[in-house]
Amino acid sequence: MDKFRVETIAATANPQQIVWAAMHQDYSEEFVWDERDRFPEESKAGELIVKHLIAGNRGHWGPLEHPQIILNVGYFPHSMMQQIRTHRVGISFDVQSFRYTGSRIIDVIEDKRNIEDVFYLRPVGNYTNRQGKRYFYSEEQRKQDLKWCLEACKLYQQRINEGLAEEHARSLIPFDARQHFIMSCNARSLMHLLDLRWKKDAQLEAQKFCELLYLRFEEWMPHVAHWYEENRAKKARLSP
Ligand SMILES: Cc1cc2nc3c(=O)[nH]c(=O)nc-3n(C[C@H](O)[C@H](O)[C@H](O)COP(=O)(O)OP(=O)(O)OC[C@H]3O[C@@H](n4cnc5c(N)ncnc54)[C@H](O)[C@@H]3O)c2cc1C
Repeated sequence: MDKFRVETIAATANPQQIVWAAMHQDYSEEFVWDERDRFPEESKAGELIVKHLIAGNRGHWGPLEHPQIILNVGYFPHSMMQQIRTHRVGISFDVQSFRYTGSRIIDVIEDKRNIEDVFYLRPVGNYTNRQGKRYFYSEEQRKQDLKWCLEACKLYQQRINEGLAEEHARSLIPFDARQHFIMSCNARSLMHLLDLRWKKDAQLEAQKFCELLYLRFEEWMPHVAHWYEENRAKKARLSP
């Protein structure tokens, strides 16, 4: 899958147990902290929250807003980052801005970095435009486009050498420079994002991002993730 990466930096421990505790407090007469030694273990808690909170699309999503995951997303094109950053509720981002550094652009000219590590171009292959018209993106076109990126790196270097600030010279960078970012969200907002960006009319690279995001979700909250995969994934359901 290209060079794309989604890695977990940190995540709330025992997330399914936490969701269970939140659900339990909704109907318990007791202060649930006092019962913490009797909380169901993580896997059992996962089964219980699927059964009592989300199976049958009951719409009781609040308890899923407590556990948080912090991810490092890498090597995706700028355009994909823009799409993901439209999600505002329950999600925070820190994105490389090219205001403070652009040395990786210059590294390309100095042969310290491969141009494909810095810019993203779709692979050679068959594609369809938004009107359903098919076209072929050829090896030759891709070569020319890489050359265009290289020329832009040269001009960027020239402008930096002439004294321009990085935030000024960044206007010259081709649109789909790869841009790393940190993203944090809760389990509910994660599923909302998957709902909107894993469906077939989402940008191809956003769908790839969702494939990797799902893997991190599955490691973290396996019962909820499996329920999600069976019931909502790629089905363009209205988001939770
Ligand atoms: C296939 C696709 C194509 C798109 N194309 C474009 C495009 O061309 N240009 C463009 O600018 N955007 C585009 N978008 C972005 C889209 O319009 C939304 O901004 C984006 O998907 C964020 O989702 P969300 O509104 O669910 O926000 P989130 O921040 O993820 O919010 C979660 C939920 O909170 C509620 N909510 C959040 N903010 C508000 C609010 N201000 N008022 C009321 N309720 C709110 C809604 O119920 C929302 O679903 C596209 C999205 C998709 C999936």
